[in-house]
Amino acid sequence: MRLSSTAVHYSAAACTDRGRKRLSNEDAFGFSVDHGVFLVCDGMGGAAAGEVASAQAVDELMRLLKDRAESAPLPEAAEQAVTAANEAIFTHAEQNPRLSGMGTTLVALLTDADRAWMLNIGDSRGYRLRGGKLEQITVDHSLVDEQVRSGRMNPAEAQRSPLRNVITRALGTQPTVTADVFPLEIAPGDLFLLCSDGLTRELSDELLESMLGLDLPLDELCGRLIGAANKAGGHDNITCLLIRAGD
Ligand code: CA
Repeated sequence: MRLSSTAVHYSAAACTDRGRKRLSNEDAFGFSVDHGVFLVCDGMGGAAAGEVASAQAVDELMRLLKDRAESAPLPEAAEQAVTAANEAIFTHAEQNPRLSGMGTTLVALLTDADRAWMLNIGDSRGYRLRGGKLEQITVDHSLVDEQVRSGRMNPAEAQRSPLRNVITRALGTQPTVTADVFPLEIAPGDLFLLCSDGLTRELSDELLESMLGLDLPLDELCGRLIGAANKAGGHDNITCLLIRAGD
């Protein structure tokens, strides 16, 4: 790991919950502060296939990103890891009819000594809270989000749309996939949230902003976010991963 006088130190906490309506939890997360890798995946597919896809994605990506060559620039290493994980899940599904069509979203934060990147595929999101203001960094790969961006639907219609579950990009469902990559400048005190749609469907950005602004330990904040999403209905699996940049 590269050391520099400006190295940022991170702390992190995560929590996942089945929610109040689903019988199983198809979300998964993984992180390593030492390796600068933080991931949330939300699986999809019939029977238990979604669970298989999200767990496989987390396992493959954690392994590949922890083992990356120290000389490889992080965004390139991440893109190679995403390609390899995609192939592994796609092949696994092709060889097992029970798992046919399985896939998963991905949102990741990757940190270097003094830089960071966010990556996403699908509708799991990455946010940054800075100076009390919440900013969504990632852009959803979902049908309704694309229609809102092109002006064919307004946000209220998007929220009510029966098509709001349709995502336009997933890890493992096609032979190839590309993640969107967002380079980030890090400032001390930045708080990052990676989460599945089970959190953002239940809690508005305004509520997330006020909750994330509370001066609480990260694990307690995670618990409060999950509790609030369950109180709001808990219609889906809920996962949140919080990462704070210290100095
Ligand atoms: Ca979900």
